[in-house]
This record gives sequence, structure tokens and C-alpha cells, in this order.
Amino acid sequence: MHQDIEKVLIDEGIIQKRLDVLAGKVVEDFEGKPMVVVALLKGAVLFTADLLRRVALPMQIEFLNVASYHGGTESSGVVSFLDETLPDVEGKVVLLLDDILDTGRTLEAVMKKLEQQGACEVKTCVLLAKDIEREVVKEADYTGFMIGDEFVVGYGLDYQGLYRNLPYVGVLKDSAV
Ligand code: 5GP
Ligand code: MG
Repeated sequence: MHQDIEKVLIDEGIIQKRLDVLAGKVVEDFEGKPMVVVALLKGAVLFTADLLRRVALPMQIEFLNVASYHGGTESSGVVSFLDETLPDVEGKVVLLLDDILDTGRTLEAVMKKLEQQGACEVKTCVLLAKDIEREVVKEADYTGFMIGDEFVVGYGLDYQGLYRNLPYVGVLKDSAV
């Protein structure tokens, strides 16, 4: 285990097994539809790669660079789109991937944007969802794991740019924050 990690919440084997199940559901729902995956940078990168290699359907894969978190361990609520051009989703069914559903403001803003761009349907898929009351995006269409209301890192999730490469999801030691 990494020296800054207090405890592992979800280990590598459990994540990978869960992805088999999520991928199966995605295949069932998207089969035969013109599919575009839109994954949010940078947090969804590991999740995206591991999930999509299990989804044997024709698909276009796009990444969106949005900033919704500004360094610390609290969600700012402000979502900014950093790309100059947005993916072409006109008339497509979109699978929107993110690492974690917290306040829901990120997914809410991105869903709106994709619908404005002409997507005919947007389904949301997250590795993690915090078990809290949300005003927007009460739940994702596909959720890997529900977790408590605590700050986690690993498997794509960072603290100040670090820990994204850990193969598991864990909680940082107080001394690392
Ligand atoms: P929301 O807009 O749902 O509040 O937040 C979504 C974004 O906040 C995620 O994409 C992620 O970047 C960040 N975030 C929310 N909770 C956590 C957390 O526990 N750990 C980390 N590392 N990032 C989080
Ligand atoms: Mg982040």
C-alpha cells in the first residue's frame, strides 16, 4: 500500500469484478445504437480504459476537460469547460463517464451541454457515488460503488494531482492532507 494511504476502501480485484457487471449492462442497453462515450478528464481515465475494453460494441470515444474542483477536498460547484471544441454528439446516444458523483453539479452541467449539442440521449456512469442527498443528478444510470461522504483518492481520483495511478480507491492519512 502507498505510504500516504490510511485505508483501502475498494481493492483492485473488487473494482475489476464490478466492471464486468457494469460493462454487461452497458452492452445490453447500447447494443444497436449509435454510441459515443464522453469521459471526463482526468479522473475518469483509468475507469474508462478498464470499462470500455469490456464493452465490445462499435463506439466513438471522446474526452472532455472540465474543471469542477479547485485543489482542495471540497467541491466548488463551479464547472468550466476547458476544451476549444466539443465532441460531435448530434443524433447520438451518449454514455457519460466520470470518476465520482458528489454534488452532481459536474454531471448536470455536462449533460446539459451535450443535450444542447444535439445528443438524443445521455446516460451517466460513475465508478463511485457518495451516499448523500443531492439536488441534481440524484443518481447515475450506472454506478460502480456507493461510498460514504468522505474524500477518496486512487483509481483516477487525485489529491493535488497525485494518487490517480493507484489501482485501488482509498482514504488519505491526515498527515498527507
Ligand atoms: P460534483 O460536481 O459531483 O460535486 O463533483 C464531481 C467531481 O469532484 C469529480 O469528478 C471529482 O473530480 C471531484 N470529487 C468529488 N468527490 C471527490 C473525492 O472524494 N475525491 C476526489 N479525489 N475527487 C472528488
Ligand atoms: Mg478531480
